[in-house]
Amino acid sequence: MFGLAKNTSPPRRDYASCSGCGLCLLVCPVWRRSRDIGLTPLGRAKALQHGAVAADIAASIQSCTLCAACEPACPEDIGLVAMTLDLRRELNQPATVQSLRARMEEQAARPLAPRPASSAVLLPGQVLRERPATLARVAALLGGAGTMPIADDDGSDIALALEAGVEIPAQRLERFLQPLRGLKNIAVADGLLLRQLRQWLPRSKIVSLGEALSCLPAVRRALRADDLYVIEPRAYHADYQRLVRHYDTLCSATGCIVNLDLQRIAIPAAARSLPQRLGLEAAVGTMDDSVQARWILQGRKITRIVVENIEDVAAFEQVNYCPVVHLADLADDRTS
Ligand code: SF4
Ligand code: SF4
Repeated sequence: MFGLAKNTSPPRRDYASCSGCGLCLLVCPVWRRSRDIGLTPLGRAKALQHGAVAADIAASIQSCTLCAACEPACPEDIGLVAMTLDLRRELNQPATVQSLRARMEEQAARPLAPRPASSAVLLPGQVLRERPATLARVAALLGGAGTMPIADDDGSDIALALEAGVEIPAQRLERFLQPLRGLKNIAVADGLLLRQLRQWLPRSKIVSLGEALSCLPAVRRALRADDLYVIEPRAYHADYQRLVRHYDTLCSATGCIVNLDLQRIAIPAAARSLPQRLGLEAAVGTMDDSVQARWILQGRKITRIVVENIEDVAAFEQVNYCPVVHLADLADDRTS
């Protein structure tokens, strides 16, 4: 069985090192929406320092969206995402574990599709698959003269298992990785899956959908100085020391502004808790995305919002500020 792959970077500190400075609150979308300190890294750290166990802070552990924005903000260098995942594993909620295991076993039993002739593949994830027109446009843009093949098995169930801290059966992982081995380029929509794929397939070049699309000349030509370009935080924070240069170059070349704060941390727009991702809870009430979207828009003079993550479209449309488009719709610039 496999959980998260071993991280090769130096070990980060744990919750015992939390000083209570509160800097993580500045970037945490759950804090922005709920104003509940118990649902933040600070709240979890202080509870654990005072003897709480995972079951005592279950709601907090489940509410984290794993956007990773708190990690670069934390002066104590605490591995906040890995620690949330460890706590989710400790929670070990039988209904979640059972339903995800059943999903993975079903996938593992499916026959393998023929391997595409191309050396590149797109792993779109469940949300993009539900929007076939946008998905087709992404594949066409990334394919250059042709169309980038879309993986028959894009590991959506594995992405959910990673998110829930549920172990991945070896047979399921092997079925997922086998067609990907030896590919030169893999574009991935899910930032959490991207983190793991880089460790599972170190010889492939694995990039986020946002990075892949924002490198395309047709997309860059369509970006304008009065655009707000919304970076997907999970993939960005998985590799932010490299990607900050990519987005700096994008801003200088196009004049657009991005959802990076003064510390160049990508601020999330839409955010889904684990129960929401599992379809057990609607995105309503204290987790209303419009609160976060309004905060990102505050004080900006823009006429269009361009998002990397298709889930952010709905978050910004709730605010009804200006047109919202996905990167893939930019190349034909239907909103000019
Ligand atoms: S990963 Fe995101 S949602 Fe979770 S605690 Fe950090 S900033 Fe908040
Ligand atoms: S930023 Fe780090 S040290 Fe400061 S309160 Fe948050 S988790 Fe604790």
